[in-house]
Amino acid sequence: MSTDNTEQSHQGATNVTYVPHQVSAEERKARMKQKGGVLWLTGLSASGKSTLAIELERQLHEAGHFAYVLDGDNLRHGLNSDLGFSAADREENIRRVGEVAALMAEIGLIVISAFISPYRSDREKARQAARGQFREVWVQASLETCESRDPKGLYKRARAGEITDFTGISAPYEEPEQADLIVRTDNMSVADSAKVLFDYALKHFSIPA
Ligand code: ADP
Repeated sequence: MSTDNTEQSHQGATNVTYVPHQVSAEERKARMKQKGGVLWLTGLSASGKSTLAIELERQLHEAGHFAYVLDGDNLRHGLNSDLGFSAADREENIRRVGEVAALMAEIGLIVISAFISPYRSDREKARQAARGQFREVWVQASLETCESRDPKGLYKRARAGEITDFTGISAPYEEPEQADLIVRTDNMSVADSAKVLFDYALKHFSIPA
């Protein structure tokens, strides 16, 4: 549900001047010893976004990199606790996360975001926010597979009408048309899927030793 604050924030602020940093992007990368970027995982509920994000964060950390997961459910406890699941609130949810991810990537972190992010236009805005540092990953599994997994029992509740606006059941999922990477989790193990993501993240966001 949108709040008054949300509506006000959409109006934008005036009299705002950009304060230039005195530390360049290149200097930050050199300090972090990595380029950083946003690995944006999108897909249906239960497609595997959180599982893979958490596994990838662990693997990147163990390999000596700075990585952090932004997870939909986690951020809805804090930054986005005022938002629901209407189209407008989903848009604002993703707008905030996209901006936060972009800031973190600018520092040089490898940000792994795990959000259904069902609307193409919202994902595109997140891509714009992070400029060249954004890679969209479609964590793909059929609706049937996701519904049969149903790790949180959400599909069952959505089918029973207990949850409205549920992606894939009563709300749309706009499939990526030009994903940078597709990981098909319905016929791959968690380990194999994570390996694909790990290699991809290193290729795009690390600096070869
Ligand atoms: P999401 O974050 O997309 O809602 P979750 O990660 O919470 O999805 O749940 C995905 C479920 O699918 C987990 O129970 C996980 O063990 C299972 N799963 C099976 N194969 C894979 C795979 N290749 N990658 C990720 N998850 C998988």
